Amino acid sequence: MKFKYIILALIFGLACSSGKQEIDVKPTTTSNIERFSLVENKPIKNVILLIADGTGLAQISSGQLNLVGAGGYLNMQRMPVTGVVKTYSANSLITDSAAGATAYSCGMKTNNGMIAYLPDGKHCKTLVEIAEERGMSTGLVATSTITHATPASFAAHVESRRNQAGIAEHFVESGVDVLLGGGKEYFIPKDEEGSSRNDDRNLIEEFENKGYVFVETKEEMQNVEGDKLLGLFSNEGMPSEGRTPTSEEMAKVALSKLQDNENGFFLMIEGSQIDWGGHSNDADYVIREVKDFDAAVKVALDFAEKDGETLVVLTADHETGGMTMLNTSEDPKKLKVSWVTDYHTGIPISMAAYGPHAIQFSGWHENTDVGIKIAELMNFGEFPVIKK
Ligand SMILES: [Zn+2]
Repeated sequence: MKFKYIILALIFGLACSSGKQEIDVKPTTTSNIERFSLVENKPIKNVILLIADGTGLAQISSGQLNLVGAGGYLNMQRMPVTGVVKTYSANSLITDSAAGATAYSCGMKTNNGMIAYLPDGKHCKTLVEIAEERGMSTGLVATSTITHATPASFAAHVESRRNQAGIAEHFVESGVDVLLGGGKEYFIPKDEEGSSRNDDRNLIEEFENKGYVFVETKEEMQNVEGDKLLGLFSNEGMPSEGRTPTSEEMAKVALSKLQDNENGFFLMIEGSQIDWGGHSNDADYVIREVKDFDAAVKVALDFAEKDGETLVVLTADHETGGMTMLNTSEDPKKLKVSWVTDYHTGIPISMAAYGPHAIQFSGWHENTDVGIKIAELMNFGEFPVIKK
């Protein structure tokens, strides 16, 4: 009797952990969506770096099939230049998001788990820090906690990505003008409900004392005056279903705050939870997150097209899940999703670019080349830089 329950529990557990394993393929709706051409190679004023966490070709493609059909194109697929990125880190052939983002932010390989921090304990200077030195405006947008590995790697230096409370402290000092995402838990003192801090620091107040406006809702975010903005829309990572604000809405507000600086801006927007869909082996989760992120990609591309001096680079940090798509024998309008793992894989990921000098991102690259190229194109001088 007992044995039977154990077997049932095992079967039930397997079924739950494997998530939804099918893609409904929609009829094509946007086969004539405008795709962008190469543009004149003017000097670049602004950079928008879009990072789709945990996103390989199957993630992009499953989103495309479900949202716009086999003949359609997502915004992620409209850029004129495509490249391929090798993702290994300093200590592993399979990177995590900390080492993956540090490769972009610092142009250097480091160990998994390290945030703009090198294996010998030194810090590397990030693109955001150099942009600030050049008088540019800067912004970070994510749907995870804003202190999660990817955004953290642009404006904090810690040995372990788990130290999100420490990353939040670094953010206070970072000078980043716009921070939008989840993760209020790391900004409020330990006695406040939901806090994940071990001290009495109220970082929201510290931000306000530095001239930031703090917002917690979409409406507050959209109506706020002033150029320095801290938006924390959930205590932990933002919800995937019924998310508000969406990545699109956050991207619009971030651009509106950053765009008036005559020295230009650097904005990083992360589609954080495509990765989480992969970790859960849940195709519906992946598709929902690709949709949310793709709308933010459109905001970036529309801005860049109008502006003419903005470089947009879209990449991932690694693939998650070994996601692939197979035929179902019965229904030609459906594809079966199969997963290899609930962790990251080592397969290279795709990159895309639009705007002046986008062609530089064509071909195969080390992940570190992406940061190095951006620094070079922005005339950021010496890069990578190890801080003393
Ligand atoms: Zn991951």
